[in-house]
Amino acid sequence: MSYQSIQQLLKTSPVGTTVTVKGWVRTKRESKNATFIALNDGSTINTIQAVAERGPAEAGLLPEETLKLITTGACVAITGQLVESQGAGQSVEIKLESVHIYGPADPDKYPLQPKRHSLEFLREIAHLRPRTNTFSAILRIRHALAFAVHKYFNDNGFYYLHTPIITASDAEGAGEMFRVTTLSATKPPLTEEGKVDYSQDFFGRETNLTVSGQLEGELGALALGKVYTFGPTFRAENSNTTRHLAEFWMIEPEMAFYELEDNMNLAEDFVKTVIRYALQHCEDDLTFLDNRLKEEEKSKKKEEQSDLSLLEKLQFVISNEFVRLTYTDAIDILANSKPAKKKQFQYEVSWGVDLQSEHERYLVEKHFKKPVILTNYPRDIKAFYMKQDDAPATNERGETFGQTVRAMDVLFPGIGEIIGGSQREDDLDKLTTRMQEVGIDPEALWWYLDTRRFGSAPHAGFGLGFERLVLFVTGMGNIRDVIPFPRAPKQAEF
Ligand code: ATP
Ligand code: MN
Repeated sequence: MSYQSIQQLLKTSPVGTTVTVKGWVRTKRESKNATFIALNDGSTINTIQAVAERGPAEAGLLPEETLKLITTGACVAITGQLVESQGAGQSVEIKLESVHIYGPADPDKYPLQPKRHSLEFLREIAHLRPRTNTFSAILRIRHALAFAVHKYFNDNGFYYLHTPIITASDAEGAGEMFRVTTLSATKPPLTEEGKVDYSQDFFGRETNLTVSGQLEGELGALALGKVYTFGPTFRAENSNTTRHLAEFWMIEPEMAFYELEDNMNLAEDFVKTVIRYALQHCEDDLTFLDNRLKEEEKSKKKEEQSDLSLLEKLQFVISNEFVRLTYTDAIDILANSKPAKKKQFQYEVSWGVDLQSEHERYLVEKHFKKPVILTNYPRDIKAFYMKQDDAPATNERGETFGQTVRAMDVLFPGIGEIIGGSQREDDLDKLTTRMQEVGIDPEALWWYLDTRRFGSAPHAGFGLGFERLVLFVTGMGNIRDVIPFPRAPKQAEF
């Protein structure tokens, strides 16, 4: 049976023709003379209304037993003439002529009632939540953003590099790792010293799920010029935050001949372009989420309400230049800020500390009121592969601090860090020395160091957590609500 998507049908509105749509019943309303069915098939946030006249079966109308099976959650195909709608709320509707019921849904047991459910409750039924307006909107936006990411890189001469998910290098230190093994969990083979003998494991060595594709990305960049990865990434961080997942998708471009400045320009252009793409292609879904958030804001205290709506916030980000400043200058601002003086920060700030999300958000939301790119962080709080600056940091007053590296973090309102990146150390001696200082065996990463041995070049790259981008674009508050099936501590049901 041929059928049309509701999105297509509402766009073309072929009034007067007979159409078939297939989807899930959202609501059913009955009056004395007619039954009104709102049907959604996931192709759009909008539903189509089907109207079934009630009356005797002899008059060619649907028997009441059939109408009874059309309940919220049931999957049906509806055929009928598309007509201009009499009622308010929709321009066209289907005059129901026949219905096929694929799968009924017992209305007493179906967990999704036609009312607003809490996000917490919906997380417990993640297998069904894509059938709600909010989650279907998020998933369509997520799709559009993923497509925009590939489009951006393809349009700009980057090659998509598939980096491995199982890795043997645990040297990167980006986070705690999940082990990959086929050894017995209860009786693993042991070495003479009583340790687990990984030489008998599947790969003949200890392996883990990757925390980042960057090191392999660098290998690609130093051959193909500009590459990017976009794949699943795993961190066993036992931190139950609204911004961390144990399994998330990371986008990591890596470019030969790019220095820190080029890297910042790329990061800014890239995020703005993909956000613009979502604004252009997800109008209905973003408007729905915008209204949803406006409702939510109303229940907040006045001082906690945000000045911009979701759509305004997205427009604001794509039409303003990001502020760029050094870590050292940021520390100056933070140390002299009102919350620092009133001791309102949970963590104190001074040169050398890693910025907490409260500090990042103060800079972005209170001080600059714009996205911020912070650069030139202290060497000791950043990864070993970042390129060292030529001279130690100094501030406006001529005070000197420690050694810095060419790092850059992009900070967004409501999110904090959305991108972390850097120019990479391309000097073999400096890189090996740094590895030894932080306790990483250069031998273990011999293949990585080979790029600096043979034809080394300045290069740079960054990592963008895809879900943090989706979080920002959808205006949701919890990262577990922007991925279909979240993986977090004690959460892997679906
Ligand atoms: P954070 O300080 O927020 O934990 P990070 O410094 O560990 O981040 P990086 O190692 O630089 O982050 O990773 C690059 C990007 O990946 C981050 O900017 C962020 O967008 C994303 N990211 C990192 N950890 C997670 C996570 N557990 N869940 C989702 N996204 C993450
Ligand atoms: Mn982290």
